[in-house]
Amino acid sequence: MDIKKLLREYMLTPARSGYEGEMARRLKQDLAPFCDEVALDRNGNCIGKIGGRETGVPGAMIFGHMDQLGFIVRKIEDDGYIQIDRLGGIPEKVLPGLEIVIRTENGAWRPGLIGVKSHHATPDEEKYRVDRVGSLFVDIGAADAREVRAQDIHEGCPAVYRPAFTELLGNRVCGTAVDNRGACACLVAIAEELQRERPAGDVYLVGTVWEEFNLRGAMLAARTVRPDIAVSLDVTLAGDTKDLSSRYDDLLGKGPCVQLYSFHGRGTLNGTLPHEGLFRLAKESAAKIGCPFQRFASLGILTDASYIQLEGKGVACLEMGFPARYTHSPVEVCDTGDIGGLARLAAAMMRGLDKNFRLERL
Ligand SMILES: [Zn+2]
Repeated sequence: MDIKKLLREYMLTPARSGYEGEMARRLKQDLAPFCDEVALDRNGNCIGKIGGRETGVPGAMIFGHMDQLGFIVRKIEDDGYIQIDRLGGIPEKVLPGLEIVIRTENGAWRPGLIGVKSHHATPDEEKYRVDRVGSLFVDIGAADAREVRAQDIHEGCPAVYRPAFTELLGNRVCGTAVDNRGACACLVAIAEELQRERPAGDVYLVGTVWEEFNLRGAMLAARTVRPDIAVSLDVTLAGDTKDLSSRYDDLLGKGPCVQLYSFHGRGTLNGTLPHEGLFRLAKESAAKIGCPFQRFASLGILTDASYIQLEGKGVACLEMGFPARYTHSPVEVCDTGDIGGLARLAAAMMRGLDKNFRLERL
């Protein structure tokens, strides 16, 4: 499987939370050759099933969110400039001078840019200040509000960074929505692996909605799938940038990550406590296939696994992923080798699951 090619296609498909349709249909099409069945649920989650060889084995759901963060049109000024707000954790300091695309009510994506004060006219004290997104203006080239509305752009229309993909050296790539299209590409690679050698239990491969919005789209998928075990796939913060090297040990190109703690206390108060038996399975599977893996633990991060672990009578959860640099910016960087490793490791774990797997935590 050419993960880089698949990732490129996915990164270039805009899918802000709530508007994942195009991405979901692509994923459905790509999972179809390897799955027994694939369907979109009523919220847009893409659910593929690979039936197991036996009965009585715990069922598993491996999932990664398809959506990406972005913006929403809040106000259209009389002179044709557009005010926006953010959806998800947009870093405001990267915004001025950035190109975006706005989705019209008809579903077409139109280009625009976030204006930046002419440098020649910027006083010193403003040069080193971060402007809040609410004070910025989007320019689509319109002369007045009438021209904006003639494009079918109105209050409430979603927007994202202009989709971008660039190949860097080796297996490294850069662009928009590495978080979390890397996981979407990984889901397809896992499906291919599992189809070649079926697991004992049922495995559902799920692309989820709304992660960047409220983390709860996956929860709705879990209510359909009703898994005993769930593994989330998402980015971890790579510790090999100048600013994070003193905080984290995970490095690009050194293999997939197992996330052993996530927690976010501000407003959400949630996080994931990894299931120890599932982590043991990850370690054993990695040793069996000779795949190096990295450990990651952090405060201030949350994935949709935190809500899955609370479903039903409780789901055995493990957060896994791949390191990424410059997260939530338009120039996220990852190494596609880590995504390939993640697919092999997740598939090996599914093959390692049998009737004897203990779902109990203690
Ligand atoms: Zn993510």
